[in-house]
Formats: sequence, structure tokens, C-alpha cells
Amino acid sequence: QIDKGRIAELAAKEEKRLNDSTTGSGRMYERAKKTMAGGVPSSYQVRDPWPIYLEEGKGSKVWDVDGNERIDYHNGFGSMVQGHAHPAIVKAVSERVAKGTHFAAPIEDSIVVSEALADRFGLPLWRYVNSGTEATMDAMRIARAYTGRDTVMKILGSYHGHHDYAMVCIGVPYDDLGDREDIQSLPYGAGIPKVVSDMTVAVPFNDAAAMERRIERLAEEGRLPACVIMEAAMMNLGVILPEPGYLEAVREITKKYGIVWIVDEVKTGLTVAPGGATEKFGLSPDMVTLAKALGGGLPCGGIGATEEVMEVVMNGSVYQVGTYNGNPLTMAAARASIEHVMTDDAYAHLNMLNDHLMKGCDAILEKYNLPGYTVGISSKGCVTFSEQKITDYESFMENLHGELTELAWLYAMNREIFMTPGREEEWTLSVQHTVEDADKHIAMFEEMAHDITA
Ligand code: PMP
Repeated sequence: QIDKGRIAELAAKEEKRLNDSTTGSGRMYERAKKTMAGGVPSSYQVRDPWPIYLEEGKGSKVWDVDGNERIDYHNGFGSMVQGHAHPAIVKAVSERVAKGTHFAAPIEDSIVVSEALADRFGLPLWRYVNSGTEATMDAMRIARAYTGRDTVMKILGSYHGHHDYAMVCIGVPYDDLGDREDIQSLPYGAGIPKVVSDMTVAVPFNDAAAMERRIERLAEEGRLPACVIMEAAMMNLGVILPEPGYLEAVREITKKYGIVWIVDEVKTGLTVAPGGATEKFGLSPDMVTLAKALGGGLPCGGIGATEEVMEVVMNGSVYQVGTYNGNPLTMAAARASIEHVMTDDAYAHLNMLNDHLMKGCDAILEKYNLPGYTVGISSKGCVTFSEQKITDYESFMENLHGELTELAWLYAMNREIFMTPGREEEWTLSVQHTVEDADKHIAMFEEMAHDITA
């Protein structure tokens, strides 16, 4: 049994300590909020009483405006698997900057990147965009054009970016979702027309039979989905791995109904294996969406597809467009990352380090008898504070000890660990992280476990 009063007391103490050591961020916030809405460029960067403003990153570390040094496990919402200012990327981007940074005409680097991605993901044709949002938005449109259908299917609680078709059944009032077999299409936040959110239908993760039943019912209503868009392992409820056989069943079902299977690898692509979750789990999706780690720290996105599906782009029926698509700086960084940074050795290092970190945290959970377990793949992982194994959004909402997750964030931030805020996030390691970095993380975790149970 965890003592909630004790946790609240520790959280208040840690909160004060963090605020006392980040007064420079506090002053910056006062200035920022006069001209930037809420003092931040994106609402996901909001924090009460103020966000932590960063100044620099190098290797596995970042520094905030107060000069606090932290080991970065946030890594830009899971993008910086290369670590900050990796020499190979700095070199490639510096050389490119002096040769012109934008033409809206293709350059050779985009061909090299496509060749590598085709090889790694087993999908022959690629296009580029500037974010994960654009990637999933265009992928859905391509799937709709290819199938001539309007409805899209997603997983309850999965995040696929901030366009209207994706902002459905994520972060919504849990009690309003209705029956598990007939989940309501609720929009995430205001400004999303109901006619649009109604076109996105969610089903629970790790339940292929429920997916098929919903597809059958949609078929009866004359609205078979154009696509199923999903992550192979959910990366926004901590980490939730697919149960054995689940992904294979989804492939079968989508094939059976002529539905395009989009595996959203914005978080997993290039971070869990050279060919992302597609390689790791041996998948054969019709489309893959990439972003984050693809650009080595520059804004990017990519869409891979079979020749058959991409035909609707090549024959001009879908306009897959964008002024900054395939931007030279991004492509130079992506090429350098693929050729020189994210090598087989790099993945071996990430796997070793993640194992080390997970084992260390597991030992502490056991030693202090805390409710939780670790889960992860390659560079990604988390401690899930729950007595029960979490397999989908429902079990996450019902079992997660959110207050322990939040306390862990405060402990991390006050002990030189820069961690992704929020109950839903995981750590991302970089190729520049070391065993020493992981040990610091484990020591921080032990201190928290000790204080909770003292
Ligand atoms: N898909 C997934 C799986 C994501 O995790 C995210 C971002 N966290 C996105 C899409 C959207 O990417 P972006 O923030 O670059 O638009």
C-alpha cells in the first residue's frame, strides 16, 4: 500500500526545490508570456508555475537558463536518439548551411535517405513532410484516396499528431467514451468539428477481435474504414507492448477488409531498431509514418508506402505537397544520422543501456516493494506504477498511480535528470548516453523509493 499523504508531502517539497533552483526560468516566463501565448511555442511545453527554459545541449546533457545541468531522458519528446550536437550531424548541417538551406527542389540527400528507408522498412516509396502530424495527415489522405473510403480507424488513447482527424479519442473525458465495443468519437480539445471527429473511430489496443467486430458493424453501416492507423507498441501511455499475435491478427483483418494498415512510427522509427517497430516485430504494413528521430533534431516527417498505395500520389490524384518537404538541412541531418550515427553498433549500445536501466529500476521496485514494473524496447522505456499489467487505455486509466509518476518527474528534475513531463511519457536514451548516466538515473530512483517508504 502506498501512502498518498506521504507522496503529496514529498511532491510539495520537491516542487519547491525545483522552483527555487529555476528562478531564471521564472523570470524568462514573465517576459515570454507577454508575446508568446502562455509563454511557450507549444501547449505541450506549458508547466505550472513556469516552464523550464533550456539553453544548450551536448551529448547526453542539457543545460537550462539557470545553468542547471541534467542528463536528458526527455530528448525532445523522443526525437534526439542521436544525442545533442552529435559531431556527424553538426558537420553535415554546418556544411549544408553554407551551401543554401532551402530550394523547394529535390537534392541528392533526399534520394540517399529514401534508399536507406526503403531498405530498412521494406517499403519501396517515400515522401517527406515536416512533422509527425503532417505525416499522419497525408498518410490518411492517401489511404482514403486509395480505398475511396472516408472513415479512419485508430486505437483508443493513441496520439498521432494535432490535425483534426487524429485528435480523436485521446486525452478525452474517460467516462464519456461509452461502451468498449462502441467507443464514442470524442474530439481532443475545442475547435474540431463534430462532422470531422465522427469520421474517426477508435478501438482498444491489444484486442484484435474487438477491432474486427467494430469493422463488421461499420461495414453494415456502409462505412468500412480506409485505414487503421496505430503504433505497433503504444508510446504515449508509458510504453505498452503488443501482446503475442496481436499485430499479426491486425494485419490479417486489415487485409481481409481491404483496409490500409498504417503503422505510425513517429516515435518508434529509427529509435527501436534500424527499421523501427516494423523490423523489430517483423511487420508488413502498407504504410509507415516517420518524424522525430528521422531528422536528427531538425523538423521532419516521412511517409513510406507500397507501390500500389503510393500510386495515387504518383498519378496525381492526391496532392502530397509542401514548400519545405525534403528541406536540404533536414535531409543533410537525416543522411548523416543514417550513415554515421544510427549504425548497428549504436543500436547494440542502446539495447545494452536500456536493459541496464530497466534492470536497475526493477531491482529497486522489488527491494522497496513498490507497485510497478519496467517496460521498454531499445532506446525507450519507463517505470509503469501499477499493480496490474497495463495493456490498453482502459487498464491504464484504471490502474496507473499517476501521483507516483508525477513525483518521479520531480525527483528526476531535482537530481540532474531531465525527464519528459506527464503521466503518459517514457524515457528516450541517446547513443551518447553512458552506463554512468543510467546509474545516475537508477540512484535517483532509489532515493525516491527510499523516501516514499521511509
Ligand atoms: N505520431 C506519434 C506516434 C507521435 O508520438 C507524435 C508526437 N508525439 C506524432 C505522431 C505527431 O508528431 P509531431 O509532434 O511531430 O507533429
